Amino acid sequence: MLLSERWLELLFNKYSDLAIELSLSIDGSETMNYLRQDFNKKNSFKSVYKSIMLLERYKIKFGVLSVVSKNSLNYARDYIDFIKSIKNIRFVKLNALFNVINNKLTRESITPREFAEFIIETAKYYIFEKLYERFPFEPLLGILQRINNKESLFCNYSGYKCLNFISVYPGGMLAACDGLSANDFRININNNLKINEILVKEAEHNKKFEELNKLTAFCENCDIKDFCMAGCLSQRFYFRNNKDLSEDFCNSKHLLFNAFKNFKLN
Ligand code: SF4
Ligand code: SF4
Repeated sequence: MLLSERWLELLFNKYSDLAIELSLSIDGSETMNYLRQDFNKKNSFKSVYKSIMLLERYKIKFGVLSVVSKNSLNYARDYIDFIKSIKNIRFVKLNALFNVINNKLTRESITPREFAEFIIETAKYYIFEKLYERFPFEPLLGILQRINNKESLFCNYSGYKCLNFISVYPGGMLAACDGLSANDFRININNNLKINEILVKEAEHNKKFEELNKLTAFCENCDIKDFCMAGCLSQRFYFRNNKDLSEDFCNSKHLLFNAFKNFKLN
């Protein structure tokens, strides 16, 4: 949705009692944002940036969600400069573009190792610029919390996975986290049960959710399981039929663990 003053009035004035929070999707500079296109197939950078300026003018804090694609890999420093330049960020979250078709990553996608390396590189500048004094940066925060045996609120680094996030689709269809296909991970509604009973039933009897359980069971003997917490199950689910990608996923977690293990506080 494109923000306007009328939307801000509605969200933050008329319905201020709902304590609505905003996040904007922007992948960094205009170059980095090239895959995000609007309805007219134009890079959405300029229109999202206008929303950023609007929010700044009204002093409204917001989160930034960015996807790292192949084209962004050489721009870690530019990315940090970009988020540093925005005044009222509440948090930043990096996600990887891991699109899988026929069990292979698409051309614009990155590998798990490339994502880990991008996290390590951006973390270096984030720390150097002391941006932690202004806003948290995921997945770095989750990584440092797990290195220090603290709970993370970020599902990738926590025991709370895909059925803890319910997606609501037009027509009332419910499914697990939208990282998973809504058709495959649909939640069957039963009006006689409470929502937590429905979720327990799905987790125990739905074949697709059983496949996610198998992925977490696979981690039982892993030396970094308390750090990695089984990672993002949708990523591992779509990698599961590609041995190299699955191995690269685990190797990328070991890479992150080794890069940040010295951040353990005494
Ligand atoms: S699919 Fe990934 S992002 Fe979504 S809830 Fe599961 S672990 Fe989290
Ligand atoms: S590194 Fe791989 S095996 Fe180990 S906990 Fe993470 S996903 Fe599981």
